[in-house]
Amino acid sequence: MFRTRFSLFAALLVLTATSSAEASSVREQETQSRSPECHNPNALGTSRIMDVGTSGGLDVGLKTYPQTLPLAGKEVVLTFDDGPMPGSTEKVLDALSAECVRATFFVVGRNASEHPSLVRREIAEGHTVGHHSWSHPAKTLRGISEVAAQAEIVRGISAVQEAAGGKPYSDGRPIVPFFRFPGFADTAPLNSWLQARDIAVFGTDLWASDWNPMSAAVELRLVMQRLDHARRGIILFHDTRPQTAEMLPAFLRELKARGYRVVHMVPGSGKSAVGAAPPGWTSETEAILTHVMPRLLKASGPAAKHGM
Ligand SMILES: [Zn+2]
Repeated sequence: MFRTRFSLFAALLVLTATSSAEASSVREQETQSRSPECHNPNALGTSRIMDVGTSGGLDVGLKTYPQTLPLAGKEVVLTFDDGPMPGSTEKVLDALSAECVRATFFVVGRNASEHPSLVRREIAEGHTVGHHSWSHPAKTLRGISEVAAQAEIVRGISAVQEAAGGKPYSDGRPIVPFFRFPGFADTAPLNSWLQARDIAVFGTDLWASDWNPMSAAVELRLVMQRLDHARRGIILFHDTRPQTAEMLPAFLRELKARGYRVVHMVPGSGKSAVGAAPPGWTSETEAILTHVMPRLLKASGPAAKHGM
């Protein structure tokens, strides 16, 4: 059965626009992401926009790297990986819209090609759409050659840009220069390759473990426990997971009730500031990959569309 998957990661846009149509598309996305209209006076809302500069690259997310975005206490960034996926992605978008919340989607290129209208809806509703490879290989990008991994990244970015009505990607800074490795499985050569293109690499600070089957109620309890412990951070979900789509309205209400504020990240210029990891920090990525990778490989098949 090919449906069960564990997913994790992705990214999006920049300003090497070479045509006026592309430049216009970028301006439109930026304008929309900053437009303040919200018709729900009781909404959680988006508290601020964070311009994330990616010049020379950027590696953030405490699960993998010893630094993260410079968030204040009780600030969160919401990220959703592996979509778009008809059925659940719409519900996620509906929940975000109802609370006037902007998020970042790290999109799988193949899914973007199959469901371009969902990518366009994400952009039209002001979300940031980043990149998460073309096919989300079950072996991760570590399990394939460096050349093949680069091709996965390029093709994935192209697919998203084309789904959004723009041009394919070839080199340099993409329209949205945000990338998340499938399974957070980076490599030093690929990180350098991305840095040379001014593409930021996003890990995450905490996650809902929504690659594991659980009820929406259990997932809500789990992620709130983790958030109340961390007090801030980039949070990873998967918009491909029905349980996450089901949980999201209650999660957003809970954020508001507990005084959390949502920060929306968008591509910026220059280099982004970062916040250092707390003392005693260690990466959790390798241990997670050791445990999850065997399951991913076991679960992979011709219909596999995404992994952790
Ligand atoms: Zn993923």
